Amino acid sequence: MTGCSLCPRRCGIDRAVSPGACGAGEELVVGSIVIHRGEEPPLVKGAGSGAVFFSGCPLKCVYCQNRQISHEAAGKILSEEELAGYLVLLQESGCSNINLVSPTHFAPRIIHALDLAVAKGLNLPVMLNSSGYESIESLKCWAGRAHLYLMDLKYGDNEAGRMFSRVSDYWDRAREAIAYLWEAVGPLRLDGEGRAVSGLIVRHLVLPGMRSNPFAVLEFLTGLSLEIPVSIMSQYNPHTTYTGDMPDMKRPLLPDEYQVVLERAVDLGFSTVFVQDLDASSAYTPDFQSEVPFGDIRRIL
Ligand code: SF4
Repeated sequence: MTGCSLCPRRCGIDRAVSPGACGAGEELVVGSIVIHRGEEPPLVKGAGSGAVFFSGCPLKCVYCQNRQISHEAAGKILSEEELAGYLVLLQESGCSNINLVSPTHFAPRIIHALDLAVAKGLNLPVMLNSSGYESIESLKCWAGRAHLYLMDLKYGDNEAGRMFSRVSDYWDRAREAIAYLWEAVGPLRLDGEGRAVSGLIVRHLVLPGMRSNPFAVLEFLTGLSLEIPVSIMSQYNPHTTYTGDMPDMKRPLLPDEYQVVLERAVDLGFSTVFVQDLDASSAYTPDFQSEVPFGDIRRIL
């Protein structure tokens, strides 16, 4: 973090002196910790997924539903020992995995906390829940510590990344990251009770007007493997943060727009396609200032 290159932005700054483009300084800041039941079904068996939402984010998506913590970097500073204690608590609460949400910019500290937690008995699968904007060098640091990778592939071209997430190379970097992870961790594996224990899932949030270029996303994944589980999400919420001037982006996703993407995924032959209800946007739009950020899910932190 003294010449930070943890994400593809490669700011090169000393985060002890000033925060990077992700909004993160030197200290580990956590927006919330919850037992999450809203992830894909194999990820929420048992009590649910033990989700730790980190504050700040290398991307600045104009429609981000987690804006309170991702853009404004609100949260609580934790030591690595404190985070390790929460990870063990999530295991004791019956969670089926540890779900690290937007961990990229705190990777060294989280990895240290994981090592401390493992020394205290943590033995759950650990999942990187990432925007997909990752460098291969950083992903390699998680080898042997993370087992599941829930990776966004937000756009099917760089222009959409420039327009909606404020980076010029999202499509290039995210494709490299996903190709690397597919090679490194392979397909999703479940235990005897249907809980995910290792492997890759790729998520794509369909934007209104197909502005995320979903067909290009699916076709790219087809070139890697039809065994990659794809999670096609409908939860775009036009009422959260979008302040631009594109009329499409000011309305919800239309049923036909979502349906045509699902049909394309099935036609292409993907073996596993996770889908959402079309009314998912309100259920998945958290309020991190509330004691119950997701519907009836009470926060642990
Ligand atoms: S993690 Fe943050 S400071 Fe580091 S390169 Fe990325 S945006 Fe810049």
